[in-house]
Amino acid sequence: MTKNKTWQLWRDGKMIEEEGALLRKKAADLPVPFNAAAKKDIQTLVEAFLKRDDALGLAAPQIGISKRIIAFKVKDFDRKGLSGKGDWEVLINARITQLRGETEVMNEGCLSCPDISVEVTRATEIKVKAVDINGDKVNKRYTGFLARIVQHEIDHLDGRLVVDHEGTISFPKEKQAFFDKIFK
Ligand SMILES: [Zn+2]
Repeated sequence: MTKNKTWQLWRDGKMIEEEGALLRKKAADLPVPFNAAAKKDIQTLVEAFLKRDDALGLAAPQIGISKRIIAFKVKDFDRKGLSGKGDWEVLINARITQLRGETEVMNEGCLSCPDISVEVTRATEIKVKAVDINGDKVNKRYTGFLARIVQHEIDHLDGRLVVDHEGTISFPKEKQAFFDKIFK
């Protein structure tokens, strides 16, 4: 087995064309009911997600699988940071059906766009249609910070990254030369 790496637009001061191309691609739906290949892809994404403590969410394209699978943490962000293990969800073939409520601007980072953060405007309430890990249809509603995470992950399935949003991009001064070049 290959080591789980995160696919990135750039790494060590260089653009990674091949990884960028996959990250920019619209991911494909999994067949429902899941076949063996679909089950394997789901398992691979879940394992990769659970291995990372630094990820609030992970989308399959971020590990090189162009399929509509996302996993994300779901609990207690506002009050006390992340709570214990097990507080996460997987959604397959997820699509946002409604954006509601007010919008909110917040800085977001992304494992696929290392070293930067971007001010992203997002809805504070969303409705999502998807299939769960058992292949059953689900309709979900997310609010607040969780709605933001889910929108970020679903963006990945549509080939959209934080740098594609309008907001101000921040990066460390010592990497300015590289980022000035790509965000000029
Ligand atoms: Zn991301």
